[in-house]
This record gives sequence, C-alpha cells and structure tokens, in this order.
Amino acid sequence: MNCALVTGGSRGIGKAICIRLASMGYHVLINYKSNASGAEDTLKTIRKSNGSGELLPFDVSKRQEIGDTLGLWIEDHKEDSLEVLVNNAGIKDDVLMMWMKDEQWENVLRTNLDSFFYITRIVLNGMLLKKYGRIINVASLSGQKGLPGQTNYAAAKGGLIAATKSLAQEVGRRGITVNAVAPGFISTDMTGSLSEKEMKALIPANRLGTPEEVAHVVAFLASHESGYITGEVISINGGMYS
Ligand code: NAP
Repeated sequence: MNCALVTGGSRGIGKAICIRLASMGYHVLINYKSNASGAEDTLKTIRKSNGSGELLPFDVSKRQEIGDTLGLWIEDHKEDSLEVLVNNAGIKDDVLMMWMKDEQWENVLRTNLDSFFYITRIVLNGMLLKKYGRIINVASLSGQKGLPGQTNYAAAKGGLIAATKSLAQEVGRRGITVNAVAPGFISTDMTGSLSEKEMKALIPANRLGTPEEVAHVVAFLASHESGYITGEVISINGGMYS
C-alpha cells in the first residue's frame, strides 16, 4: 500500500490535505493530538469517497511518543510504503516577546519545528531505501516576513523553511523532494479569534484562503509529476507577500 502521513489531520488545513491525498489513491495516516471525533470525521469523509485511511494519534511535540507510535507503525507495516509526509500539525501562542513566557517559546518551537526533525528522521529512512519520497512542510507567511506577537511562531516557521531547503539538498539525488507551503490567513480554528474585517483589509485578494486551497498546492507537490521541484516555498496568501 502506498501511504501518506499527515500530522494534524483532525481539523482545518490538515483535514483538507488528508481528503485530497486520499483522492489521489493514498492510504492516509491521519495524525492528531486529542480531537478523536474530528479525526474520525476526516476518516469518514475519506471512506465516503471510497478512499482509505486510518487514525494514528500521537503528540508531535513529544519525541518519545513519536518514536513509540510512528516507529511501531513502520515496524508493523514493512510491506507498505510511506511515500508522502506532510508536516502540518502546528500551534500558535501569540504575545509580544517582552511578555512571552518560557513555556510559550518552548511549546511553539517543539510543536512546529522539533516535530519536523523527529518525525521526518524516522520516515526518511524508508524513503531513502525506496529512492522515492515527497515531504511537504506547512510553514507560514509569518516565517517569511515575521509578524509582531509571533517571535516564537515566526522563529519556528522560519526554521522550518531553512530546514526544508537544507534537507532538499541532502536527499535530492535519492528521488526525494522536500518543499514547504507558506499559507497567509486561512479560515480555520487557528484564525477564528482574529477579526475577519481587519484581516481582509490586509489581503489583496480581499478574502481569507480556504483549507482546500492549501491542500491543492500540497497535492501538487505530492504528485509524481512534481519531481523536479524541491527546496521551494510556495506562498498561498492572496497576494500579501512574495
Ligand atoms: P488548526 O485548525 O488549529 O488545527 C491544528 C491541527 O494540528 C489539529 O489537527 C490538531 O490536532 C493538530 N495538532 C496541534 N498540536 C498538535 C500536537 N502537539 N500533536 C499532534 N497534532 C497536533 O490549525 P490550521 O489552521 O489547520 O493549521 C495547520 C497548519 O497550518 C499549522 O502548522 C499552522 O501553523 C499552519 N498555518 C495556518 C495558517 C492559518 O491561517 N490557519 C496560516 C499559516 C500557517 P487536535 O485537533 O487533536 O488538537
């Protein structure tokens, strides 16, 4: 079976990515942290369209949990091939740096950046052996230009972009591409607390993006035909920044 692992597949952008990759024929491993009903709903939607998938909950901010859960899955599925990895799970915890607590810095870095390292290192081994893989990291506009109140989040996403470019150069000759997408403001729970009117004023397209629009770009990068695109960062921001 050709499989795709999507972290944070229970809601928002990750859910749309799971559905899209399943429609491409992938058996999708839907990761989440605690929202089992959301993840079940993603799986139900996939199955309704005759797609296939399974739930694989673990906390991406915990190295041990990643090793135990994902390591075991790989061990138990030697016949299957994990061809696509989408590092999507993420959190923000905005506050001016002056007032930022240690935990706010550490949690955001662990969830958005350390997770990339620990998850990708495990998955990479199989891709290197098969000489094929598609790794897509969900970064952010914040990691490209910075945003006030997001020194933690911008540092994590900026680091993710730099790591994307470095890893792409390490594994290019093994048929593995590594790319990032950088969404601007997308309608999900993450942007739910922000004023839509104020955000729209900043966006040339005059609207928020949809999770499906991000999933579309991820699917493009995940396709076989995108094999000559690597180390790239594709912005999906309605024209806010390029
Ligand atoms: P969201 O609606 O808040 O959903 C977050 C997803 O990540 C959920 O599935 C959640 O699982 C999962 N998650 C969070 N922490 C986790 C952990 N420690 N372990 C495992 N799963 C975890 O967020 P979103 O807006 O879809 O964002 C998805 C990605 O896009 C994030 O990396 C975010 O930084 C990035 N992004 C979003 C926007 C935007 O405007 N929305 C813009 C730029 C970048 P549970 O449901 O179990 O909590």
